[in-house]
Amino acid sequence: MAEYQIRRCDRHLTGGIHPETHKQLSTAEPCEFVDTPTRLLFPIHFSGGGPGKALVGVGDPVAKGTPIIRCQSGIVHVASRAGTVLDVTDHAMTHPSPEQSACIVIEPNASDLQDYLSPMNWPFDAKALRERAIEAGILGLGGAGFPSFKKWSNRTQTLIINAAECEPYLTADDTLIRIDTHSMIRGACLLSRTLDIQTIVIGIEDNKPEALQAIEGALKESRSDCFFDIVLLDTKYPSGSARQLVWLTLGIEVPTGSRSVEAGVIVHNPGTLAALSRAIDGKPITDRIVTLTGESLTRPKNVIAPIGTPISHLIEATDTNPQSLHSVIVGGPMMGYRITDFSAGITKTTNCLLAREVEIQPESPCIRCGACATVCPVRLQPQQMVAALKGEALSRAIHEGLGDCIECAACNAVCPSNIPLAEWFRRGRFEMKENAREHQQASIARERFEARNTRLERLAKEQEAKRAARKAKSADALNKARKAREEIS
Ligand code: SF4
Ligand code: SF4
Repeated sequence: MAEYQIRRCDRHLTGGIHPETHKQLSTAEPCEFVDTPTRLLFPIHFSGGGPGKALVGVGDPVAKGTPIIRCQSGIVHVASRAGTVLDVTDHAMTHPSPEQSACIVIEPNASDLQDYLSPMNWPFDAKALRERAIEAGILGLGGAGFPSFKKWSNRTQTLIINAAECEPYLTADDTLIRIDTHSMIRGACLLSRTLDIQTIVIGIEDNKPEALQAIEGALKESRSDCFFDIVLLDTKYPSGSARQLVWLTLGIEVPTGSRSVEAGVIVHNPGTLAALSRAIDGKPITDRIVTLTGESLTRPKNVIAPIGTPISHLIEATDTNPQSLHSVIVGGPMMGYRITDFSAGITKTTNCLLAREVEIQPESPCIRCGACATVCPVRLQPQQMVAALKGEALSRAIHEGLGDCIECAACNAVCPSNIPLAEWFRRGRFEMKENAREHQQASIARERFEARNTRLERLAKEQEAKRAARKAKSADALNKARKAREEIS
């Protein structure tokens, strides 16, 4: 049995809100496998892990687990089912951008052919685990899609399993913990032993008693010698945001501009650790749990779906006609984005599809009530930042703390003037990052230009010196010849 303790968190989230959770909507039904669809779609540049390169071409046969995309970060994405590559073409994708992008289209067949990696035997070192995470395509499955191996450092002291799942409607993590607890615990233990991590913390909101019970059951059955510190958090949004979770569970304030990794803490989603456990057994990520929820769906539930499954196929799995919906939100109501083309395939980061009719209230001027500042978990003044952004004063918004905004949208939820504050902040932060990227590229270009000029100047000087040497040599030879002629005459 693994040792553990359960304690109530003695810190309280700054700001935050208590929205209606709506979680029971999707947990009433058991989690089901969905049928394999007739098409699977994989965006080459937007599957997670950065821009990618197709490893297969039209007509190629693939097995379940065959590598099909390798990303700039090294991360590999695999075919989630056996079949044939039907096309590589521009297609709608599950992404905030409405643009189409190059996608690999696979037509699955009835074969259960598998192309898995060989199982790893303990002991293995951090290098081997990193390589396995790359080949098995292990990314943050909580929605961020950051390559997990990039967080792993030898200086890591604490692993936090982020089981808070504080966003309303989402129950994918809760479901995973209930049905696949052993994989999550095993993934956490193997990662901790490999990186020599001292402490494993599980941060979980107190509205998930079934998940907590499943964790306790799995720890009692586990033969691991790891110690688990289970921290019960108040149910309050956004306690599961990485920075807030690190502070709530450990009391560590991650400084502005740095990441929790730099403070010796890594935060992983339960699904990511379960996927890592399967990767060690040789199985890359081919499926994920998706919450299908919202009042517009006939039978909301959680499903286990192959990566690449079209959204329309998942809507149908809830006995709902996709044509009856105008749009769905990918992710939760607070941080998700809207999508209208249901032919797009889900990716590894698609944790929830939310279908509900919401009447958009007209926006009115700010009445300076200060409610947005009261709920901001980062103690920002959202009304000042939005005023700056509306006045196109990005630098003033940055001065007001735009860089610290975690885009949680708690401010939106309380604004009596219905100002879409978080949308302004998302756009502003995007512009801020683009400016930083352009600035960095300009610096690199300037450095390269200056290095080229220096190199050309050096070459010109070298050539000049060679020319001068040649001239001196030939003058010397002429002199000698002249002298010789004079001596003969
Ligand atoms: S979206 Fe940004 S400004 Fe608004 S509450 Fe969240 S962190 Fe604060
Ligand atoms: S909550 Fe809305 S109305 Fe009130 S200060 Fe903030 S932006 Fe203005």
